[in-house]
Amino acid sequence: MNTRSIYFRLILWYSGLVIAVSLAFGAYTYQGVRSRLYGEMEQTFTRRAHQIADNILVHVHEKSPEEIASQIRSVYSPSANNRLIRILKSDRSVFYVSTAPKEGRFDPLKIPLPQTLEAAHRVETLSDSASMLIVDVPVTATGEPFLIEMGAPTDEINTALGGLVITLLFGLPIVILIVSAGGYVLVRRSLKPVEDIRATAEKITFGNLSNRLPVAKTGDALENLSTTLNQMLARLDNAYQQLSRFSADASHELRTPLTIMRGELESIAQRESGLSDHLRERIGSVLEEAERLSRITENLFAISRLDAGEARIEPITFYLVDLVKTTTDQMLLLAEEKDIEITVNALHPVKVRGDAARLKQVVVNLLDNAIKYTSNGGNIIITTSIVDHKAILTIADTGIGIPAEALPHIFERFYRADKVRSREQGGAGLGLSIVRAICQAHGGTVEIESTENKGTTCRVILPLANGEA
Ligand code: ADP
Repeated sequence: MNTRSIYFRLILWYSGLVIAVSLAFGAYTYQGVRSRLYGEMEQTFTRRAHQIADNILVHVHEKSPEEIASQIRSVYSPSANNRLIRILKSDRSVFYVSTAPKEGRFDPLKIPLPQTLEAAHRVETLSDSASMLIVDVPVTATGEPFLIEMGAPTDEINTALGGLVITLLFGLPIVILIVSAGGYVLVRRSLKPVEDIRATAEKITFGNLSNRLPVAKTGDALENLSTTLNQMLARLDNAYQQLSRFSADASHELRTPLTIMRGELESIAQRESGLSDHLRERIGSVLEEAERLSRITENLFAISRLDAGEARIEPITFYLVDLVKTTTDQMLLLAEEKDIEITVNALHPVKVRGDAARLKQVVVNLLDNAIKYTSNGGNIIITTSIVDHKAILTIADTGIGIPAEALPHIFERFYRADKVRSREQGGAGLGLSIVRAICQAHGGTVEIESTENKGTTCRVILPLANGEA
């Protein structure tokens, strides 16, 4: 579990808060119910005491104490109801006391007398586990003051409170669980826009810089974040467009003077008589470099236009293996010079839709590399297949391979893993950049796996032509 995650911390805080609030609520409910139960008992006792005074004690001078006692017994049956009724005269002498209850839960004669004859309520301890609530009510009957004491064991209230505690103990964890689960869902839902922004941002590359992140219409920091990130993307897009246009313009501007230079040099070398062999050789070498420069300029121009999305793609639908076979046939001489065997395997009939000339360039560049970087007598296997509804072209060689530290840079412009060898072979480090730009312009990708001294496998992944699977 990731304890640093915002999900975890939010849910932890939220659950902590819910637990604290639930416990406070439980304590408040317990206290509220308790004081209400005691309050009601006190009110009932006070009412009864006044009833005794008004209905029975008023006859204190007309009736004997036994008659009064028997009337109280017959109306309130204290012993049957587990109640204490005790009436004190003004000198604190006991005028009447109820008999012990049938259940024998307390002995009325052992309950201590009150200190004063004032209104009060108190809890007397009966034993370790039992206590009694006693309410003292001062009354006057026929002008004479009395104190009527009404009491009952508190275990009925305690049983009710115990029931409440059990309900709370079982109920609160369930409530906490439900509320925490709800909180989890809520946190996930509220952070979903962030996840959406992340997922979209992950897919944005230089190939689709014009895409924008979803803007969560929340009117708060989240909306500001997505808007600000989109503004940043717009600035990046703009800068990238300018850069690509600059490269395209620069290489375009270089093409004409280079073509003129090459033409002039060729014409000097061919037409001028009287040139010494040495001079002719030097002109030939300058011409070679001019041609090399032209190739680099052309390649740079192509990449820049593809990157800027300005290159015109003229799509046609064709079988990939046909393109591979014609290209291989045209390059067979190069392979034969090095005694390299090329095998073409068409595992599936793969139809793609794209610019045939540009896709041919992909095969030429990859096959050219495979031949260049494979020693005499090696093998190259070209395969066309369909995997996961995609057209796959692999070119695997048994060549020198690419060092692991060079692999991440292999698609960068002008990057060459083995500078000396690559330059000797006439490479400028632009071949794979072109391959990638063309693949991306066709909605595809290119991957390279390589082990030094064992060989390299290039995998071009393209969308299948519509309707093909
Ligand atoms: P270059 O024109 O120099 O070949 P690329 O962009 O085509 O440029 O390739 C970049 C570098 O990747 C090359 O300089 C070479 O070091 C390495 N490379 C490309 N393909 C292969 C391969 N099949 N085997 C070994 N190395 C390769």
